[in-house]
Amino acid sequence: MRKYVIAIDLGGTNIKIAVVKDGRKIVNKIILPTDLYKNKGALINGLSQLSLEIIKYSKIKKRDILGIGIGTPGLIDSRRGIIHRLVNIKGFKDVPLKRLMEKKTGIQTFLDNDVNIMTLGELHYGAGRGAKNMVCITLGTGVGGGIVIDGRLYRGSCLSAGEIGHMPLNEHGPRCNCGGFGCMEKFVGNKYIIGAAVTKIKKGKKSIIKKMVGGDLRKITPEIISRAAGNRDRLAVSIWEDVGSHLGVTLAGVINLLNPEKIVIGGGVSGAGRLLFETIRKTVKERAMKMPAKYAKIVKAKLGPDAGLIGAAVLVRLGKNDAN
Ligand SMILES: [Zn+2]
Repeated sequence: MRKYVIAIDLGGTNIKIAVVKDGRKIVNKIILPTDLYKNKGALINGLSQLSLEIIKYSKIKKRDILGIGIGTPGLIDSRRGIIHRLVNIKGFKDVPLKRLMEKKTGIQTFLDNDVNIMTLGELHYGAGRGAKNMVCITLGTGVGGGIVIDGRLYRGSCLSAGEIGHMPLNEHGPRCNCGGFGCMEKFVGNKYIIGAAVTKIKKGKKSIIKKMVGGDLRKITPEIISRAAGNRDRLAVSIWEDVGSHLGVTLAGVINLLNPEKIVIGGGVSGAGRLLFETIRKTVKERAMKMPAKYAKIVKAKLGPDAGLIGAAVLVRLGKNDAN
């Protein structure tokens, strides 16, 4: 019985490669900086060699490997296994990574974007377990989303579905790099959160944040604002309430549109915890239609930093099932 998957989380900063056993158990893991590879060829060679090495190191036979699963941020054609664009790596344009990996390793390979992969991980082994209809959101510099309908990932007609961060929240809001105006990301992303703190402190609002960064406002991060909020700092609390309200408004729309049973929220900012979630739930209750709002549970993601690896393993198993 083939029970192992090689899972790869190809991030902008780090590459993680792991052997995943029996669905979600990580047996061995390698983490290395992405900028170790200076160009497209070096990166593809690196990924295939590391995959073969970790198999050898784990003393597993190649025939016991179900496949390789790769998750990465960027524009990805999951059906054909092509990466259209990879943000941090030069020359990575329209690369048929699936075919190249299969040629170099002899192992069937599947790929998808990192948010879809995280969604699969949370659906099968995390906070979304048992849900048939679910929306998964990652908060950070950008805001990503994955949609599950009737137990399956919904990818859309050209595979771009789930861009919840680019749902317009304010018709007259600032221009976004997606081409739109006033996208939700502009009101809940890290840049907004940090900017709000800096502006308020500069205006003379009192806050322990200033002391926490030794007076250097450039050192403010969402984590610091979270810690300040944990200490009941009024300015920090008001920022999270503001962000929670923006998220709540968007999610009220999502709930009215899709009637999900779970909304799973992960990523750095979700570390703001109770305060953020309470505000989101309150806003949803005030704004969404009563029946679907009551039915939708808004919960924190469970899998943490390994979500990308566990999800990549799920992607392989699902891909194999579809092929058979
Ligand atoms: Zn946008």
